[in-house]
Amino acid sequence: MAQRASTQAIGFLMQQGLENADCLSLAAGFVDPATLPVDLAQKAISEIANQTAQGQISLQYGAPSGSDQLRAVFRDHLTQLEGPGSKMQELPLSRMMLTTGSQQFLTLVSQAILNPGDICLVAAPTYFAYLGVLDGVGAEVLPIAADNNGMDPAALNSTLEQLAAENRLHKVKLVYVVSYHDNPSGVSVSEERRPQLLDCVKRWSKESHIFLLEDAAYREMNYSGETLPSIWSFEEASHNEHVILTQTFSKSFSPGLRVGIGVLPPQLVNSVTDIKSNEDFGSAHFNQNVVAHVLKSGDYQRHVKSLHTAYRIKRDAMLAAADEFFSDIPEVTWLKPEGGLYVWMSLPSSISTSFKSPLFRQATEVNKVMYVPGRLFYPSTWEQRPDNQMRLSYGVLNAEQIHDGMKRLAEAVKAVIS
Ligand code: PMP
Repeated sequence: MAQRASTQAIGFLMQQGLENADCLSLAAGFVDPATLPVDLAQKAISEIANQTAQGQISLQYGAPSGSDQLRAVFRDHLTQLEGPGSKMQELPLSRMMLTTGSQQFLTLVSQAILNPGDICLVAAPTYFAYLGVLDGVGAEVLPIAADNNGMDPAALNSTLEQLAAENRLHKVKLVYVVSYHDNPSGVSVSEERRPQLLDCVKRWSKESHIFLLEDAAYREMNYSGETLPSIWSFEEASHNEHVILTQTFSKSFSPGLRVGIGVLPPQLVNSVTDIKSNEDFGSAHFNQNVVAHVLKSGDYQRHVKSLHTAYRIKRDAMLAAADEFFSDIPEVTWLKPEGGLYVWMSLPSSISTSFKSPLFRQATEVNKVMYVPGRLFYPSTWEQRPDNQMRLSYGVLNAEQIHDGMKRLAEAVKAVIS
């Protein structure tokens, strides 16, 4: 396991962050420190501690998947997000799991489903820390084309067709989709494609049961337009379901609390719960109580609204700076996200953005700005993975710093192009 985990980009990226601490960082995927709800956390913690019984319960161990009382609060929250009449309201609590961030849920599910050599299909590009998890369990990871509307169902279909022709369909166990404001592209899967992706997965569940892992980490981070129902909501309830859903309070409240939620198909409940019980017999009970408290008081919902305003300003600052500084550089394009934390930028195909590239050196050593190289977001075994892209985050910096960072980055790009 250690060998499989040894080449993970996240460690290298964090190292780069430390080594380039004097840079303006458009790289860090952290949330905005100025918006972290210190007051709300303080209020919730003191209200919990002021009731001795509640304080004692919260400071005690919980249950491996979270207590029923807490899971009911989190289920109410998911029901509200899905909208009135959602089948979420009837979800048996046993199918809901509270985890240490959604990252733990992603890991547990992958451990439960994938044996070494099994295949997971992911959008190209996709969330790189999940690629690390897939490497960790020894999965083979294949890229599926994605565009402005998310993963392309036709491309998914043709890859599955191809795998069937190669007699490898039985190896396919999982399709991973970040359904809202993807990390890194900022793109959401369109309304039309949501049921199409699910139908495709069901259609090809012939030789093995294929699950669709829906990572909705940025679901509540939507700054314009309406929020679509989850892919999960398109599946009819049965004993043989395909969609696994996960969400997190890391982006919308606090990553330091490490509270994530997962919704499991019935046939996975026992296996994932067993693995979690072995792992830690329950995530931080106190932190779960803090999040449940702010959900019940309405402080959470008010906080999320204020976040939208704060991030909209920063997103707009980055897009305006992209227009101002990059428009005159030929063959540079970028996507305009409606939410999330990232702008995905492509440079001319001859310009490498990787850690060892002249551009990365120029940016970090001369112009003092850092970005995340796009290569990290593609399966490492994919020979044609693009090398000319960058993930730019507007999470941590304020609007003025974002403007300055984008100016520096454009100067670095111009320096290596000329
Ligand atoms: N999924 C995606 C797409 C993410 O970007 C992240 C955090 N960067 C996570 C899952 C995991 O976050 P957490 O464990 O904090 O919930």
